[in-house]
Amino acid sequence: MRILFVISELYPLVKTGGLADVGASLPKALKELDQDVRVLLPAYPSVKSRCPNLKPVAELRLMDRPATLLEAVVPDTDIPLWLVDAPHWFERPGNPYLGPDGSPWPDNAERFGALCWAGFHLALNQVGLNWQPHIVHCNDWQTGLVPALLALETNRPATLFTIHNLAYQGIFPAQTFTRLKLPKALWHVEGLEFHGQLSFIKGGLMYADKISTVSPTYAKEIQTPSFGCGLEGVLKARSQHLAGVLNGIDTDKWNPATDPWIAQTYDLKALSGKQTNKQALAEHLNLPLRAESPLLAFIGRLVAQKGIDLILQALPYLIRYPFQFVFLGSGERDFEQGLLYWARRYPGQVAVHLGYDEALAHLVEAGADLFLMPSRFEPCGLNQMYSQRYGTVPIVHRTGGLADTVVDATPDRLANRAATGVSFEHPSVGALLEAVKRAWLLYSQPSLWHSLQQTGMLRDFSWRRSAAEYCWLYQQALAERKAGPTLSS
Ligand code: ADP
Repeated sequence: MRILFVISELYPLVKTGGLADVGASLPKALKELDQDVRVLLPAYPSVKSRCPNLKPVAELRLMDRPATLLEAVVPDTDIPLWLVDAPHWFERPGNPYLGPDGSPWPDNAERFGALCWAGFHLALNQVGLNWQPHIVHCNDWQTGLVPALLALETNRPATLFTIHNLAYQGIFPAQTFTRLKLPKALWHVEGLEFHGQLSFIKGGLMYADKISTVSPTYAKEIQTPSFGCGLEGVLKARSQHLAGVLNGIDTDKWNPATDPWIAQTYDLKALSGKQTNKQALAEHLNLPLRAESPLLAFIGRLVAQKGIDLILQALPYLIRYPFQFVFLGSGERDFEQGLLYWARRYPGQVAVHLGYDEALAHLVEAGADLFLMPSRFEPCGLNQMYSQRYGTVPIVHRTGGLADTVVDATPDRLANRAATGVSFEHPSVGALLEAVKRAWLLYSQPSLWHSLQQTGMLRDFSWRRSAAEYCWLYQQALAERKAGPTLSS
């Protein structure tokens, strides 16, 4: 199958979160299944500087402005990468979505509208590249207009729209609709209009032949008012076309047996290597290690979604016990300040590193005993999978991808060697405290603990499994694509 994969970030070229990891891994895994996959991405400065041998392959007009399509390859692969080079929209340093003051770029609608129009022209083989995809796979709101624009065409590929996080929807004032040169036929409540405004994500949800999200549990949750972010009605109405496919992880990059970023490599037969990493992590963060103390870690964006406020509220209680904590993250100022307060007050128990640090993230996964992930909602989540692979037992709120990837340590599951972590039902401080206590009890029983670690380390979180499921979804999307001439094979 020929697949055009449209996305707004891709590791290691540009990354703000898990979406970039998917951008790097899924096309690679599809390629390994012999699919002809090509990726479309905006040409941000960081992308251009990290891609050698950029070659202009087409000139485009997007919303009456010129743009060039540059060709490169996805790093460490031979997968073609097309970049929408439009300096007036993308030649800006830093975060791809936010300006230096932390608020969204004021012309984000035009910027990602341009990405969508480029995807549309490529999908219809209109730019002279002599390549037409069977499938256009769109990811998150930044690409949501592609399925909508294509829906008005006859000789079009089938479309799959993947929701990586429903909380981000790309909502803009109604007048943006005309500025983006969108066809009038798309402006109605069952189209791009959302309470009188333009919604990019609705383009994907209303018009894609298939919709997916990144875990089966999140696929169910988003059809309810608690998780649907106002779109639960739309999602329920399209539930026949909605599937959940768990993300994988890059098992080469996240492998404790070969990881170049950790102090000592190890595997499940030589778990003692974790102790060396614990020591190295503690030294790196100036945390005086206490014997017998479990080391609890958190890595992630410091936003309410990740339950960092629950952790902050639980700290006054947890600090009375012999736990030590490591936090790596950046985000909202109040949460950053809250963590710094605890690190200043209890320097022997709490270490905080604010910022984004890929290498340190690996050392944290290798050195910690327990990983805290009490996310209020979690479409899939990656760190709980990295943790299991590194023998670091995750403590998670049982939601979305966390529910699908962490097997709670009930007595039965422990006995059957199926358990891989500790999960709790409600996102409350009390439930989090109970879960930590339960994990501590397990930690104090070495043979049970080792079995928990080993079961987690043996789980298959590879992308191969997910890519095969996506291929199946592509087939279904093609079968369900509304009438129109079939594309040449
Ligand atoms: P989300 O995409 O919602 O932020 P995910 O768990 O899906 O959450 O993915 C987050 C990714 O970003 C993971 O690869 C995680 O390790 C990484 N990450 C988040 N914050 C940091 C940080 N401060 N330093 C290093 N890596 C981080």
